[in-house]
Amino acid sequence: MTYPIKEHMKIGVSACLLGQEVRWDGGHKLNHFIRDILGSFMTFVPVCPEVECGMGIPREPLRQVGDPDHPRLVTRKNGIDVTEPMATWAVNRVKELEKEDLCGFIFKSKSPSSGLHKVKVYNDKGNPVNRGMGMFTRVFVRAFPLIPVEEDGRLSDAGIRENFIERIFVLARWRDVLANEKHPRYLMAFHTQHKYLIMAHSPKHYKIMGRHVASVGRDKLMDDYQIYETLLFETMALKATVAKQVNVLHHIMGYFKTWISSDEKKELLDIIDHYRSGLIPLIVPMTLINHYVRKYDQAYLKDQIYLNPHPLELKLRNHV
Ligand code: SF4
Repeated sequence: MTYPIKEHMKIGVSACLLGQEVRWDGGHKLNHFIRDILGSFMTFVPVCPEVECGMGIPREPLRQVGDPDHPRLVTRKNGIDVTEPMATWAVNRVKELEKEDLCGFIFKSKSPSSGLHKVKVYNDKGNPVNRGMGMFTRVFVRAFPLIPVEEDGRLSDAGIRENFIERIFVLARWRDVLANEKHPRYLMAFHTQHKYLIMAHSPKHYKIMGRHVASVGRDKLMDDYQIYETLLFETMALKATVAKQVNVLHHIMGYFKTWISSDEKKELLDIIDHYRSGLIPLIVPMTLINHYVRKYDQAYLKDQIYLNPHPLELKLRNHV
């Protein structure tokens, strides 16, 4: 299985997570997983909203105040309101980022400029509510609703990390499809290759997308690609639960059930069951299935992205 090349896997990252000393106190928040592991497969586009919109290093730290749905961004000590410069800069930066074809963005958690979830917004009594979003992040996610986004803290959850990175790879592959000639046959080929990956997220969506792909003609191809794209990323945002993975594993097993011995069949079923019970990670049944796919030269399965959605080095299916 080949993976999208590193140059096609561009992701935005809050600059301090890459070790750049851009924080208010001149420090950084280097994340080794992002820089060293993801960095082997992806090209980073670092963004520091506070420095890029003209604030110095060091600087007074910021916080959000007021209405959590329409907060203001102010300096912590002197209360200088920097909402407008940040908003103007963010709109322009997002326009620039459009040219980068980003496949994802990792934000710095809790930051009033870059946080994604539960950013503190203080009321006039100085009490915080945890339901804001960074000023730049808000503009970014509104401009790019389909681009997978996460924040550094949540990436330490193995399930969240796997889902996020899987979506990045799917988007990169989809971008490659978009960059080439459009034809119903190419859309069908992409859909067929992603069959089991899509099913692992939503068997229901797989059927809807299948009906859509089958109806695609040449007359309104761009619209049909657009509809498919929306469905694809709606689906990929749904969690691939253990039950859905087990369903897919059983489907795949159906391809070689007549070739493997009853002993081998029992062994594979037991392994899938151990995975279902949380005793072993997904990589174990996947390895055995990949072995049979190679051994019996199963051409259809060999092409399935589900069997090798991302490089093994990322160790994304190694958790229970
Ligand atoms: S959290 Fe965002 S604004 Fe703050 S230093 Fe990091 S990149 Fe810059």
